[in-house]
Amino acid sequence: MYPPSMTELRIRPYDYLVTGGAGFIGSHLCEALLRRGHSVLVIDDLSTGSLSNLSVCADNPDFSYVVGSVLDASLVSEAVDLCDRILHMAAAVGVENIIRRPVETIEANVKGTENVLNAACKKMRRTFIASTSEVYGKSNDVPFREDGDIVLGATQRSRWSYACSKAIDEFLAQAYWKDKDLPVIIGRLFNTVGLRQSGRYGMVLPRFIDQALTGKPITVYGDGKQTRCFSLVDEIVECVLALMDNDDALGKVINIGCTQEVSIGELARKVKSISGCESEIELIPYSEAYPDDFEDMRRRVPDVALLRSLIGMVPEAGINQIIESILAGRSEE
Ligand code: UDP
Repeated sequence: MYPPSMTELRIRPYDYLVTGGAGFIGSHLCEALLRRGHSVLVIDDLSTGSLSNLSVCADNPDFSYVVGSVLDASLVSEAVDLCDRILHMAAAVGVENIIRRPVETIEANVKGTENVLNAACKKMRRTFIASTSEVYGKSNDVPFREDGDIVLGATQRSRWSYACSKAIDEFLAQAYWKDKDLPVIIGRLFNTVGLRQSGRYGMVLPRFIDQALTGKPITVYGDGKQTRCFSLVDEIVECVLALMDNDDALGKVINIGCTQEVSIGELARKVKSISGCESEIELIPYSEAYPDDFEDMRRRVPDVALLRSLIGMVPEAGINQIIESILAGRSEE
């Protein structure tokens, strides 16, 4: 399905470069862009992404990908030269992955983004930097506003290296905007879910769905009272693309997420009841689920006033609808 020539960087102009395009959110962005008639080039090192995520795009003549890393500055620069706009999605993903591979996390997030911003600036390419709600750390000041304080834990706890490295990305992107006029937009993505998301790197909903579909216990960590706000990837993609077309978004840090809060215990109960599975719900202490130094956050809710004021929409799908749509998609696989 993937001839070797597809892995050669095809020299032609493209509308969009999607770094991390073989990942979960990146691949949905590629599909949406091609549907809208844009041409797309992907760079992905396949560390957590997979070419199978791009099977819908592979046959499109306006699509090409190169297997390579954003740590490769000359590759990034060559790719950026070919493309009008950049969606920088390549980053370390998944709490489990991050705490087990801290060096790769910090390097991918910091050096990778530096390479992208540097190359974008040489050609003044409009760029979207995907950041994360993890940046708010363990702040209790919910809902989180973009200009609110961030509260991170000790540097001895590797989870916070992710938040910190993405915060550096945000500082750097804003510095490029302020000092060098690079047209850049920073999106803080809240928990995003949907088809093709893997549970392998720790993400809770695909794990619960896999557990339900295989009749295994649904593993709720801690007391299950911690909350998150989940958004369907299709809605996140709509928001990112709308922001890219909005001049007022330039230079800004913008929350992108849904405001409907659900506890992880409730999420497990919903997955169980909507799927009709026989799985038990099992509470697992954090000490068994994660290495010793792990800290979780109790609540994470976005303030979406800025997003709404910029693009007139925010992710709205409720958790039942989200679970139903993922289960329906999975049953078609
Ligand atoms: N979680 C869980 N069971 C799992 C995986 C995760 O209870 O099998 C919990 C995790 O401890 C956290 C929440 O679900 O409280 C969301 O975890 P995820 O890794 O999906 O995202 P994040 O913590 O980055 O919001």
